[in-house]
Amino acid sequence: MRRTEALRDLVRETELSPRQLIQPLFVVPGEGVREPVPSMPGVERYSINEAVERAGEIRESGVPAVLLFGVPAEKDEAGSGAYDDEGIVQMAVRALKKAHPDLLVITDVCLCEYTSHGHCGFVRDGEVDNDITIELIAKTAVSHAEAGADVVAPSDMMDGRIAAVRSQLDEEGHANVPIIAYAAKYASAFYGPFREAADSAPEFGDRRGYQMDPANALEAVREARLDLEEGADVVMVKPATPYLDVVRRVKDELGVPVAAYHVSGEYAALKAAAENGWLDERRAVLETLTSIRRAGADMIITYFAEAAAGWLR
Ligand SMILES: [Zn+2]
Repeated sequence: MRRTEALRDLVRETELSPRQLIQPLFVVPGEGVREPVPSMPGVERYSINEAVERAGEIRESGVPAVLLFGVPAEKDEAGSGAYDDEGIVQMAVRALKKAHPDLLVITDVCLCEYTSHGHCGFVRDGEVDNDITIELIAKTAVSHAEAGADVVAPSDMMDGRIAAVRSQLDEEGHANVPIIAYAAKYASAFYGPFREAADSAPEFGDRRGYQMDPANALEAVREARLDLEEGADVVMVKPATPYLDVVRRVKDELGVPVAAYHVSGEYAALKAAAENGWLDERRAVLETLTSIRRAGADMIITYFAEAAAGWLR
């Protein structure tokens, strides 16, 4: 059954389609800006007008969704740019939905791109204050929904934030906006290039106080279950390839839609090898994305989304 393409097609267990891919998009202030991210060849940061144009191309490729990250002009202690109705993400969502009503716009909901200290929450006495943080996170999610976001994705890993986001959304008339919870977000070395793209490296300490220990898998299932109980519609495992066993466990034990985030460092590693001629980029990327699907992910957030869609056509 492996002898010809047609035979292999008959018995293939896992399907990889552009419909399951989500392209992250970084939005920066200004007009006509396209800034390459040096550690992520092929990835650029766009001003809103350019993001609108790029989103059209992404949609055209067959990828149905983008995940938006904002890089604000100014940061402060409280991350107030995150929940400003005229903030970078809020303005970008309005522009994207106006230009491409059928593009699914998912927003990353966190404070780390907006805080001067780069942590994912409100810092008091050198530590992140969980309870103040979740109020600000919920406020941010509501302002994204008001701007027209189709889905919100809280990525902070604070305790109780999904419940806070859900009840705040419901109260403010956004009961139909689903939540993708970054349920099992590991304290990973693979986020390095992203922090360059989002200007979000923490100024002091690290995020191990709220992100998960890479050695734990049962805890991931527990975290995902908690997020579901609090009202999450999709649970995410991040990063993807070093945690395929976690994707599988979460899928098997909870049986709900699972997202996997193929992160910046996973992208950068494949890109670097491909640029050196050490790997066949197309084959390596499609194999990687197929493995994430095979592990049980329903949807994959990846910087390769648009390219993969082109290859899959
Ligand atoms: Zn964050």
